[in-house]
Amino acid sequence: MNLFSATWRRRVSLGPEQSVRFCDAPVRNRTAVWLSLGSNLGDRRRNLERALAALPGLGIERLRTSHLYRTAPVGMRGSWFLNCVAAGETALAPRPLLRRLQALEWKLGRRRLGPGYRARTIDLDLLLYGNRRIATRELRVPHPAIGQRRFLLLGLRELGAPLPAPATVAAAVRRQSVHAAGGKR
Ligand code: ADP
Ligand code: MG
Repeated sequence: MNLFSATWRRRVSLGPEQSVRFCDAPVRNRTAVWLSLGSNLGDRRRNLERALAALPGLGIERLRTSHLYRTAPVGMRGSWFLNCVAAGETALAPRPLLRRLQALEWKLGRRRLGPGYRARTIDLDLLLYGNRRIATRELRVPHPAIGQRRFLLLGLRELGAPLPAPATVAAAVRRQSVHAAGGKR
């Protein structure tokens, strides 16, 4: 895929439905990706470890992980979360990557039982996919929570991700409490 071709420019300027098709296009070169992992049900640490161990098999290469962070649940009742951020490279296009992440969530016991936020064994979100911007019903990248969750900013910064403006980061850090939960994985 030639990123500078007229076809590519035409496609990205089209609406959400068309960008879905674009997201399915194979990516020839590896793209840097950043993911968030979270668990607040069951053996939270073990759930994160199992998810991280499975990521290379899903197509995430050169995997790196942040520290673990313990965070209060937002918008739901339940136990605190154990979270981390992971970075890697992938040849997968964004939507197939999301589908594989969702399949892994299912494999690790995540069940979506209805609307609203609920306790979950594992939550795997795509935070950044290179410098791509995607705004479809199924997939929003950069992930909208990046500027709102302190652990995401801390984890992304740890892993050298391109971050939003420092003012956004500072505001999010002031808003939320987060506790480092143990050593680097
Ligand atoms: P949350 O992650 O907000 O707690 P869910 O894991 O239940 O909630 O995801 C809800 C929906 O968010 C999914 O069906 C998925 O299609 C959509 N979604 C949109 N953008 C993303 C993204 N960047 N990463 C993961 N899921 C996303
Ligand atoms: Mg999710």
